[in-house]
Amino acid sequence: MNVIPPIPNSLEQHWMPFTSNRHFKANPRILTAAKGMYYTTDHGDQVIDGSAGLFCVAAGHGRREIAEAVNETLTTLDYAPPFQYGHPASFEVARRLASITPGDLNHVFFSNSGSEAVESALKIALAYHKAKGEGQRMRLVGRERAYHGVNFGGLTVAGLLNNKKAFGLGLPGACHLRHTELPDHQFVEGQPETGAELAEDLQRFVDLHGADQIACCIVEPIAGSTGALIPPKGYLQRLREICDAHGILLIFDEVICGFGRTGKQFGADAFGVIPDMVTMAKALTNGVVPMGAVACSDHIYETITEAAPGNSIELFHGYTYSGCPVASAAAIATRNIFDEEDLVNRAAKMTPKFQEALFSLRDLPVVANIRGYGLMGGVDLATAEAPGARGLRTTQEFYDAGLIVKMTGDCALISPPLICEDQHIDEIFTKLRDVLSKH
Ligand code: PMP
Repeated sequence: MNVIPPIPNSLEQHWMPFTSNRHFKANPRILTAAKGMYYTTDHGDQVIDGSAGLFCVAAGHGRREIAEAVNETLTTLDYAPPFQYGHPASFEVARRLASITPGDLNHVFFSNSGSEAVESALKIALAYHKAKGEGQRMRLVGRERAYHGVNFGGLTVAGLLNNKKAFGLGLPGACHLRHTELPDHQFVEGQPETGAELAEDLQRFVDLHGADQIACCIVEPIAGSTGALIPPKGYLQRLREICDAHGILLIFDEVICGFGRTGKQFGADAFGVIPDMVTMAKALTNGVVPMGAVACSDHIYETITEAAPGNSIELFHGYTYSGCPVASAAAIATRNIFDEEDLVNRAAKMTPKFQEALFSLRDLPVVANIRGYGLMGGVDLATAEAPGARGLRTTQEFYDAGLIVKMTGDCALISPPLICEDQHIDEIFTKLRDVLSKH
């Protein structure tokens, strides 16, 4: 058996993603084990997981059912090529997902991450219009303060300067809706009453460029990793109406919102709007094995598959590991846990307590704003320093206090595993208060 030393001898060789490498390596935070709601550090300390890893470990850490399913697959069907061959597990995952996705989103295309799910959805949107004889529809509409992963399509439609500025121009012809956070949304619990009119930005793009130029509009139902921006009431409905009126595909990026985070299966269910495609990843496999997916409507699948002549390949797109056996096994085991433990309803049940604890932080002087929905919350810290400097320090302070919470810039994102109990919520928010009250 390979033995991994508990404290690495050198940290330099691993160039860490989205990390201040110099800062981190001077004072590393190393996690060596995880079970349930807790991590163990290399110092043997227990740290409560306030962010479900990165929004992915919905069913809690160290789930034996998933480990066993993966382990069995490793020795029975380690790999099967996904092009021109199939294996039972990926069809089963697709069937299970189609049974919970909204509307007629019955066709599932697999990727290995959220970023790849987004790229796949954008490419499917373009291929769909091409198959309909409308290949000139190439403009992609995204939104400010959106995060859609790190590949070029996702970067293009996303709305975060830091993620884009070193990497050139992205894809041509993209337009961005304004983000939905208005000044009168300060400390609003749940969906803001104002702001639905921001959806009219899409109509402006139609008026400016012509509907026949626009392929799709992609939004996160709740913009998760950029601060938990909750959609104003009526906003997503209005996007849907404009898309319908002009033949534009509506894509919900549910990489964070999906699988119960909102207290419903998908954000689409929480907000009562059915998109044409849903992207998902993260909690699909409980974060254990990388896997992403796009669920597409009957119409999209049929249009693309029926347009291809004879026996030709309909969509020239896919990944070596699309729906691979190990990820599929992890996804099935995760789905089973969701069903057996009724995790989506559980999240709904825990929501009032979570939201109350979240908004109880409003009296702290450092807290500039709070947003929340389901088992997700964003707490903005006031800062007079360079953006992100306070957030970086706070990450360490949380860790020293025995808490992991994801900081995006100066915003703390709280999204515990859906298995959390009352005492875990109490522990997370007591630690948040202890740390933030010293600011
Ligand atoms: N879309 C959204 C909405 C996300 O939150 C994320 C990841 N935080 C991604 C896409 C990218 O997922 P991944 O990191 O698995 O590529």
